[in-house]
Amino acid sequence: MKLALAGIGKIAVDQHVPALAASDDWELVATVSRHGSIAGVPAHTDLANLLAERSDIEAVSLAMPPVPRFDYARLALEAGRHVMLEKPPGATLAEVYALEALARERGVTLFATWHSRMAKGVADAKAWLADRIVTSAKITWREDVRHWHPGQDWVFEPGGMGVFDPGINALSILTEILPEPVHLVSAELDFPANRQTPIAARLHFSGHVSADFDWRQEGTQTWDIAIETDSGPLVLRMGGNILEIGGNIRASETSLMNEYPALYARMAELVRTGRSDVDLSPMVHVADAMMLGRRNTVEPFEWQAQ
Ligand code: NAP
Repeated sequence: MKLALAGIGKIAVDQHVPALAASDDWELVATVSRHGSIAGVPAHTDLANLLAERSDIEAVSLAMPPVPRFDYARLALEAGRHVMLEKPPGATLAEVYALEALARERGVTLFATWHSRMAKGVADAKAWLADRIVTSAKITWREDVRHWHPGQDWVFEPGGMGVFDPGINALSILTEILPEPVHLVSAELDFPANRQTPIAARLHFSGHVSADFDWRQEGTQTWDIAIETDSGPLVLRMGGNILEIGGNIRASETSLMNEYPALYARMAELVRTGRSDVDLSPMVHVADAMMLGRRNTVEPFEWQAQ
């Protein structure tokens, strides 16, 4: 199936393009980006014109930041094309509900992806937890924003989500694997004095579940979820790619390189079976944290460490 990829930036180059090149399901036939392009692929700057010219393009994958994504998604769905959304699926919950309704009305697929759910250990963790009682869970997601998002000012602009941009990956795993849903009961958010989004957040959920998100972590980076159950501990490390149960490693993969091929395979399956997949539960927790969270002002953030 022919696909266009829009928003040629960091994640498009790092993950989408290699995953598409390796896919038996998809052929990357065009890019849409104001500045970016991929060698050997016809480059366009305007999605509406591309859709008008190329009725053979069946699907559009959107890899730009969340705020501008809605207009691209709406254009593609209105043109009767299947759409795949990077995470988080939108800047607001209501706009994603609107896209879901539009996809249903036009009879096309909308896939709101959560790449971390495709991490190596996640499916096995979910299966193991399914018939156990979770007594507590602790997420520790601490990384260096200067390393992972160099100069990407949009992450600190309204709708950029700040530390929830990586934190929502942890929440996408949590909402996938817990046998019973949890809800936020309190949160504390640290906003740099010169920025619009939080650089750190501590969340407390029902069921003794908590999350510690921090973008100021230098040195060792941590993406762990530690869960206590009535049958002993389960730990997911490396963003869900390493699974330990009772201290024994059950699954191990040290890179993200399998996540995007799995997303594109899932997209192909959704298209073939005429379905959509739009689960907003990770984003609901972020919205709740923004509604309920206590706000602290912390020292200004500059890309060049002072
Ligand atoms: P990015 O490199 O800053 O942006 C991707 C591209 O989007 C840009 O190169 C730009 O291309 C286009 N873009 C930016 N602002 C735009 C606007 N206002 N209107 C239209 N196009 C715009 O961001 P990224 O790191 O790839 O992240 C993009 C999405 O992927 C985010 O939702 C992020 O959460 C998700 N993601 C990122 C990572 C990661 O490691 N970075 C990992 C997983 C998921 P042009 O200037 O050429 O139009």
